[in-house]
This record gives sequence, structure tokens and C-alpha cells, in this order.
Amino acid sequence: MLILFDVDGTLIRTHGRAGRALAGAIQDVFGVDVPLDGYRLSGKTDPQIVVELMATCGWGREQVAPRLRELLDRYLVRLERELPPELVSVLPGVPEVLSHLGGRKDVRLGLLTGNVEKGASLKLERAGLAHHFGIGAYGSDEEDRNLLVPVARARAAARWGDRFEGHRTIVVGDAEADVRCARAGGARAVAVATGGTSIEALADLGPDALLASLADPATLPALLEGQPGGSEHRQRAAEPDRER
Ligand SMILES: [Mg+2]
Repeated sequence: MLILFDVDGTLIRTHGRAGRALAGAIQDVFGVDVPLDGYRLSGKTDPQIVVELMATCGWGREQVAPRLRELLDRYLVRLERELPPELVSVLPGVPEVLSHLGGRKDVRLGLLTGNVEKGASLKLERAGLAHHFGIGAYGSDEEDRNLLVPVARARAAARWGDRFEGHRTIVVGDAEADVRCARAGGARAVAVATGGTSIEALADLGPDALLASLADPATLPALLEGQPGGSEHRQRAAEPDRER
């Protein structure tokens, strides 16, 4: 199976530094001071965050889009400088879970994140986790997170010769948007309440599994449930329309 992890709030925390680097890049390129207070970054792609923040200051997409690439390059320069490794915290249970899954022949690990690819790499390198992931789908591929499961599957097919159709793909994330993008791609959704979204709000979306953190003893059973011969097939037989 293909297990795709979100980055921020799921694997690591950057204590507001990445958001500030993005706001700083907006200031550098557009000279606009965007308000981060009260704005939720959770589950959104980097390009989406820029477009939404600029909209709060009265700038339309057509004004922002032509300089988006330049802005995201500027963000990466700032992130490199403004995110020291000691401010990248690895969330509980993450190293153990990734090491275990990485040792299994029946599991492939990837990323599904709103971060632009180089931003995700930089954060995960600083966290010492980058080596675990063979492929990724990123905010630099699509502004709409709901389009990222097919991107990840295409990369998995190119790398490992398998698209991991249906519930053989699992999306693990901390935000409502992670659950929704799993659904949009016909993948299983495993929600983990270590980000900015409460466990109750995640439960309301009815993810296939819900964990307090990746240190929860239920983590590996929740992730590995969809294996051939596992209970997934019984669930799917009982609830045939659950994938959509
Ligand atoms: Mg997240």
C-alpha cells in the first residue's frame, strides 16, 4: 500500500516560522503586510495561502498569479534563513512509525502536502525525516489539494510500477482538508489530531481512522488495516459507496 503523509501538524511543527516566512515573502514582492492573526493555514496549499491572504488585502488572483512563482522562490530563501533546525519539532511517535513502515516490503511511503516541494524537503531535512519518502505530491503541483492524490499515484506508478488504486492509498493528515482530499482521490483517510484541528472536528468528517497522535498504539493497525486480507475488504463490501 501507499501511505501519504501530510507534513505540518502531522509529522512536524515549525512554531509559526514557515507562516511568517511566507508573509515576509509577500511583503518582499508586493509590499503588502498581510494579517496572519486569525488566518488558518492548516490543510491549505502554499499558493492557496498566498492567494487567500492577498484577497484579504483587496488583491485579486489576476494581480497575484503572474508573480506567484517569484514569491514562492522568495519564500524558500526566507525559509532557509528563518527556520533553524531547532525550531522544527518532530511530533510524538513519528520517527518510530516511519521506521517501522519503512522496513515493510508491502508499504511505500510518500508525501501529500500543501507545501511547495522544496519547502517540504527543507522542513523534513531539518527534521531528519526526508529520507523516509520515495515520492510526493505538493502545493507546487496543484493549488487545489483535492487534486493531489492522482498526482501522488502517477509518481508512485513511475517509481514503483503501481498506482495503488482505491483504498490501497492512505492519506494521513491533521486537517479537514486532508480528509477531504483523501475522499476526492478515493483513498482511505486517517486523521491525526496533532495540528490545529480538534479531534471532535476531525471526527465530524468521519475519517476511516482517527488518532490522537501518531504515538497512539492504534496507529499501525489503523494504517495497515487496508492490506490484502485485512478488514478493509469486508468494510468495502459492506459499504460499497464509501469511497466517494
Ligand atoms: Mg497539516
